[in-house]
Amino acid sequence: MDNATVGKHPCPECGGDLQWNAAKQSLACPYCGTIVPWSPAQEALGEQVVELDLVSALAQHPSDQRGYGGGGERREVQCQSCKAISVFVDGKVAQRCEFCGSPAVIDHESLGDAITPQSLLPFKISDGQVRDIIRKWYGTRWFAPNRLKHAALTDTLKGVYLPYWTFDAHVSADWTAEAGHYYYETESYTENGQHKTRQVRHTRWEPAAGSLRHFFDDDLVPGTVGVHANLLEQIGQFPTTSDLKPYSPEFVRGWIVERYQVDLRAASVLSESSMQEQTRSLCSAQVPGDTQRNLEVDATYRGRTFKHILVPVWLVSYTYGSRSFQVLANGYTGQLAGERPYSWVKIFFAVAAALIAAVVVFGVLGR
Ligand SMILES: [Zn+2]
Ligand SMILES: [Zn+2]
Repeated sequence: MDNATVGKHPCPECGGDLQWNAAKQSLACPYCGTIVPWSPAQEALGEQVVELDLVSALAQHPSDQRGYGGGGERREVQCQSCKAISVFVDGKVAQRCEFCGSPAVIDHESLGDAITPQSLLPFKISDGQVRDIIRKWYGTRWFAPNRLKHAALTDTLKGVYLPYWTFDAHVSADWTAEAGHYYYETESYTENGQHKTRQVRHTRWEPAAGSLRHFFDDDLVPGTVGVHANLLEQIGQFPTTSDLKPYSPEFVRGWIVERYQVDLRAASVLSESSMQEQTRSLCSAQVPGDTQRNLEVDATYRGRTFKHILVPVWLVSYTYGSRSFQVLANGYTGQLAGERPYSWVKIFFAVAAALIAAVVVFGVLGR
């Protein structure tokens, strides 16, 4: 697949470069407004989402791997404060870091060492929808500074594609363990000179063995450094099977793309240990009986493949005092998670008002 020819779908009316429009859920021309539905026919023309072989990719030298292709101007800048690298395709390069608000952004030389995303999940939640979600969220945050509200509802709201890795693998595992079966015996004992009986639980241990076959499909590992990890966990899952589209510059043009900094090797190690953990608990669930011990798992992983994908988030970042805060929304489901400082001004007035009220109440009662 030649990168230069992928994703060239100019506007049929004026020939302009199309962009993904979240509100209309289709490609749109930013110059003349023409809407061009994403047709499944394009996917049928060989632009399917493909899985890549992990073993051969890891054996490749990083410099052999292709950069973000697809034609078009592309620039990368790195933030000197939070280290996030933003990629801009055919777009204006931001003067401030999208992730922490720092103005210390410098050009980043890409050296062609980045793996092209195979696919992406286009934005489903539009900026209008996410502003409503944030407005409601802000309304329930007492003592949040007005600056947060201002930041959330103005143009500091940014649509960002975050880098993720997904891994597939077939596992076959043999396991052995000791399965424990509970049984009860009646024991008699003497208490204060009285004869009594009680039920006592015992465990009978028996050897057990079995085997497991399982397919891991799209095990996700985030490659972002720009977004705070605790927020990422809170905004929920990104569906990676149904709505994934083959990567094409139309989808990212006008949006910001974060370049991954957890590389394929590091991500594959993380995924491997996560799969091992899951394999172990799947085997553990097969052990019969009431309890178990000495579980040994011998697992083989075959057909390991990966994809580099982009997923959509809406991000508000702002600084308050010396700290940087983020509000993050899942660009597919709208699920929101946010950090916020407490406004000491608002707290001061709230406490003062409570004290005045108390004085008045006690003053009245005291008469
Ligand atoms: Zn046009
Ligand atoms: Zn930054």
